[in-house]
Amino acid sequence: MPVTVLTEDSPLTKLVRKGEAEALAKAKGIHSVADLFELVPRRYVRPGQLSDLGSLQVGEDVLVVAEVATAATRPMRGRRGTMLTVVLADEAGGELDLTFFRSFGHDRKLLPGRRGFFVGTVGAYGRRLQLTHPEYELFDDDDAGEAALEWYRTHRVPVYSATGKLNSLRMRKLLYTALDSVDRVREPVPEPVRSARGLVDRAQALELVHRPGVDDDPDRGVHRLKYDEAFVLQTILAQRRRVAESEQATPRVPRPGGLLSAFDERLPFELTDGQKEVGTVLAEELARDRPMHRLLQGEVGSGKTVVALRAMLAAVDAGGQAALLAPTEVLAAQHHRSITAMLGDLAEGGRLGGAEHGTTVTLLTGSQPAATRRRSLLAAASGEAGIVVGTHALIQKHVQFADLALVVVDEQHRFGVEQRDALREKAQRPPHVLVMTATPIPRTVAMTVFGDMETSTLRELPRGRSPIATHVVDAGRPGWLDRTWQRVAEEVAAGHQAYVVCPRIGELDDEPADGLGDPEDVAGPGDLDAGEGAEGADGPGEGDERELTGVYAQLHELQANPALAGLRLAVLHGRLDPDEKEATMRAFTAGDVDVLVATTVIEVGVDVPNASVMVVVDADRFGISQLHQLRGRVGRGAVPGLCLLVTHDPGERAAERLDQVAATTDGFELARADLLLRREGDVLGARQSGRGNSIRHLRLGRRDDEQVIADAREDAFAVVAADPDLREHPALAAAVAMRLDDEQAAWLERG
Ligand code: ADP
Ligand code: MG
Repeated sequence: MPVTVLTEDSPLTKLVRKGEAEALAKAKGIHSVADLFELVPRRYVRPGQLSDLGSLQVGEDVLVVAEVATAATRPMRGRRGTMLTVVLADEAGGELDLTFFRSFGHDRKLLPGRRGFFVGTVGAYGRRLQLTHPEYELFDDDDAGEAALEWYRTHRVPVYSATGKLNSLRMRKLLYTALDSVDRVREPVPEPVRSARGLVDRAQALELVHRPGVDDDPDRGVHRLKYDEAFVLQTILAQRRRVAESEQATPRVPRPGGLLSAFDERLPFELTDGQKEVGTVLAEELARDRPMHRLLQGEVGSGKTVVALRAMLAAVDAGGQAALLAPTEVLAAQHHRSITAMLGDLAEGGRLGGAEHGTTVTLLTGSQPAATRRRSLLAAASGEAGIVVGTHALIQKHVQFADLALVVVDEQHRFGVEQRDALREKAQRPPHVLVMTATPIPRTVAMTVFGDMETSTLRELPRGRSPIATHVVDAGRPGWLDRTWQRVAEEVAAGHQAYVVCPRIGELDDEPADGLGDPEDVAGPGDLDAGEGAEGADGPGEGDERELTGVYAQLHELQANPALAGLRLAVLHGRLDPDEKEATMRAFTAGDVDVLVATTVIEVGVDVPNASVMVVVDADRFGISQLHQLRGRVGRGAVPGLCLLVTHDPGERAAERLDQVAATTDGFELARADLLLRREGDVLGARQSGRGNSIRHLRLGRRDDEQVIADAREDAFAVVAADPDLREHPALAAAVAMRLDDEQAAWLERG
């Protein structure tokens, strides 16, 4: 075959027709030869011996040589289109059926009398064996047949997922051509690292992945691709870490006898050992002339906010300001309220009756009335506000600080790196940064997504916390749902409060029954006012026929339920106006509302210790971490928490998810389970949408990949320590630049 010489940077159009190149770009984000190389086959067929039709077994991957005996198309039952059934026969008289649910194209090729080979997994239909949508190649003449067969006898057959018009066979040929056309494959991993880790070189890895011989192990090649992905990523993180370490920050040393000590004196509880330890670490890092860059993670309810607040007070005592960035308006308002309450007269600095060394806590959100907003902006810019709490609105250009010392980002998974950076730029010198995460972070994610930060973990919950019991409620069983609402009534009768969480908002006049409303109104980022995070269920969707329960439909149902007669109900969701939201949250906190029917706006951080029961409606529509986060809203005081996960006929996978959540309250374990089920793009948050920049090969939920990442991290940090600018490693530098370009492009595309 004549072969043009290509490089890995060559666009795909050098290799294939325009239509195919477009299909690959669109479906898989494959633009260049290098992208194509990263496409890992779904599996491999190992033909070894040719199978004869009489000896086939169900489940076997086979390659058979046979002749088309008959071919017939017929319309499909209940669907458009025709299906094609081909009967193959071999010389010994054995038969095998081929089934194509889209006959198009195949019916013109698979004519009786044609001979060829067919690759697929044997299935059964009735009593006959069949291959569904097999790969096949028909012989023009016997010589061509022999050559092709010889090739198949000596190689494993990679099976790729089909992309539009390109079936697996076409993909395979494309990769063979690409492998033959690129004369030098880039090698980003230095030789000493490769030999120390026993890695094959990259050219060999690509052969193993895309063109393995019968006795080769493609996994060794795949392992190398995973390692590369981790290695390039870790090199970037190592470089970022170096840059951060070379930055100058203002040391913030609190004056003694200031806000912090006054606050500590009036704290109504004793800090846990973990809180004290982390507090010491933060104080030390704030006092350094390098910017702190630390991630604080901890189980739901472990008391991260107090830790952060103490760091903020230290910053204020040192003469600077602190900003607290929250993912939603509800949460920002709550932080503002609770910080103000915790500080008491310490938050009334400059006001008559305020404590002498007090400060001011200001709230800044996108939906505040103009006058309030102006006052907040002024307080931040003049330095009058020691602590500024806000949403995304804090990041906007015109927001200025007199002397921003510390940025605290709450519930990080909703914030992108870019937003963090935008806030950092508001200080003359880089401020210290503390990031708090809503969910415990598995080690793989800590090493990748947060790999340029130091981490601290709060492992214990404050004493006196009550356990949360979680049960799955099958709404299909008679009486179970009634029992659920009865439990809510009992909790309220005992003086407690309840949350009812629904996957969508619905309309004000929605009736209690199913089948009303517009399925489009599941709240998403686009529907919400500025500063509000995504709201609604984010569980992997299955079986969408049932209408999801909306907040209003649920409210009306509960109002009509005699078991709940006389209870004070209220709704909370992102489409309410901010004042209303604020008022409702206040009323619930004060105990003036018994049952709060809400969307996931209450998912993160909302803290009402008197709430003891949560009912999650259509729980199968929520992800694992989300459910864990949600139920963390109950069991926060001395009252045991109860979480009831209501589901109507969940699919098998959803049922398994719910059982997992019910079985353990270990957030780290659940976060890992969640990762296994999700696409990595979700894990990495906003920056991972769109094309070619997401994590491709590594599965962050898998323990063996954790080891790959740990190894690559160690290696990459060593390489960067010895050669920060990668002068000695041009191929690695190129790979790093390419990955950063991709991220940049994805970031720009998103706007
Ligand atoms: P999270 O880590 O989920 O953000 P919070 O910071 O919201 O947790 O704390 C949950 C609750 O626990 C709050 O009401 C807080 O006042 C309380 N709390 C924090 N630390 C302690 C402690 N050491 N002892 C008792 N209660 C505490
Ligand atoms: Mg919190």
